[in-house]
Amino acid sequence: MVEAKGVRKHFGHLEVLKGIDLTVSNGEVMCLVGPSGSGKSTFLRCINHLERLDGGYLRVRGKLVGFEEKHGKLYEMRERQVAAQRQDIGMVFQRFNLFPHMTAVQNVMEAPVQVRGESRSAARERAIGLLERVGLADKAAVYPAMLSGGQQQRVAIARALAMEPALMLFDEPTSALDPELVGEVLDVMRALAQGGMTMVVVTHEMGFAREVGDSLVFMDGGVVVESGPPREVLANPQHVRTQAFLSKVL
Ligand code: ADP
Ligand code: MG
Repeated sequence: MVEAKGVRKHFGHLEVLKGIDLTVSNGEVMCLVGPSGSGKSTFLRCINHLERLDGGYLRVRGKLVGFEEKHGKLYEMRERQVAAQRQDIGMVFQRFNLFPHMTAVQNVMEAPVQVRGESRSAARERAIGLLERVGLADKAAVYPAMLSGGQQQRVAIARALAMEPALMLFDEPTSALDPELVGEVLDVMRALAQGGMTMVVVTHEMGFAREVGDSLVFMDGGVVVESGPPREVLANPQHVRTQAFLSKVL
């Protein structure tokens, strides 16, 4: 589903990604952990070409992200092509970014109607089904301001799912939530994983990584320091840097 090879990214003189190699298989849940500033968000953003990588390559479902290969040379895609490619990838951020002037169901319907040209009635019906799936059937007509942070984040997940993505990227989806609201969002993500969704999840929730993750990747300073089955990495980290990080978060 995702293949990263030697992915590099710098901002000015700051080298943020120093050659990331990793693969995510179909149906895999990969948890990406590491200290603040290690490049996790930048890497996620490269996967859907919100950031343009400076070296290496990234493929999603076998296709280069953001670039086309012609006669052995790479050319950056036009924004329209990038947008089309991005439809396959759902992204959920720390901040929910719902449209404040739209109800929950309108938020979920918006992209299918505007981007895919789906009829409003069909999109509404699917949106209600998705809100049911995240446990919010009764909140369809409610505006974001009237929802808790956990409910807003579940609407954001339903909204991402409305485009029927093949891959879901989560960037610290529970970090902005009050502690008592974290569980309801993780439960939705767990159900999604059990349904077979391929997911890359940046998180500090090590319980989730242990129980739901198929793989855990520890990043620090723009490199993958170590990776493996979550239980193994968490119980028996091999590198000093992983040990130091885990001793702080566990
Ligand atoms: P993480 O998500 O692991 O906390 P980030 O990928 O957000 O790390 O950031 C990695 C480094 O890149 C940080 O030092 C951050 O300040 C820097 N950075 C991120 N985005 C930009 C940007 N658009 N311009 C300049 N520096 C950036
Ligand atoms: Mg980040």
